[in-house]
Amino acid sequence: MQALLSKNLTEINTRIACAARRSGRQPEDVRLVAVTKTHPVAVVRAALNSGVTIIGENYIQEARAKFEEMAPAAVAWHFIGHLQSNKAKYAVRMFDLIHTVDSVKLATELDRQARKAGKVQAVLVQVNLAGEATKSGISEQATRELLQELSTLRHIKVKGLMTLPPYFDQPEKARPAFAALRQLRDRIAACPIPNIEMRELSMGMTGDFEAAIEEGATLVRIGTALFGGRP
Ligand SMILES: *Cc1c(COP(=O)(O)O)cnc(C)c1O
Repeated sequence: MQALLSKNLTEINTRIACAARRSGRQPEDVRLVAVTKTHPVAVVRAALNSGVTIIGENYIQEARAKFEEMAPAAVAWHFIGHLQSNKAKYAVRMFDLIHTVDSVKLATELDRQARKAGKVQAVLVQVNLAGEATKSGISEQATRELLQELSTLRHIKVKGLMTLPPYFDQPEKARPAFAALRQLRDRIAACPIPNIEMRELSMGMTGDFEAAIEEGATLVRIGTALFGGRP
């Protein structure tokens, strides 16, 4: 597993670097989140041995088991799944960055838990650009207003935006969504909101991360291309 993983990681890092250069950016401007959901803790360990520095997990329960086994490994944990307010306490304990904040209710609970934990919780706001009713995320139109509300919360710190476009078999079809997220980020950054940073753009997965990087991604979330299909 280790050898294959190292080979996959080298290949992905090369593709990330090339996509960055193609769009006039530096490879270091893009960070890889290795998505280990549904894979056992041995896979997380192998990923760290290969040089992965950020682990992405989708489910609190599953992440807790791995987190406890891995601690105190020098790795950043990112939460990329749908988060329910009643799990905010655990999310704050484990995660360095939560990619999926999409409501005042969730943000307020994260703020409360972070205050109790003596932490400022870094988050991204998840935007649902296609308006898909089945998906999490705030609408593009409502994003600025949500950010304004979040700017008053002292124990969470917004670092940027995240999106999860509908699945397409061709990456070019996801590109407009990636461009739209970047444009939204730029519009917000042009009229800054106090306490809100618009540095990070979390977008792009196995099938479309190069298009996402060309459109400005700073965090790409990759599972399958690193670890193979999920059980
Ligand atoms: C599972 C998942 C990924 C990784 O998807 P792959 O296609 O396996 O690279 C990325 N982002 C989110 C939000 C996910 O749930």
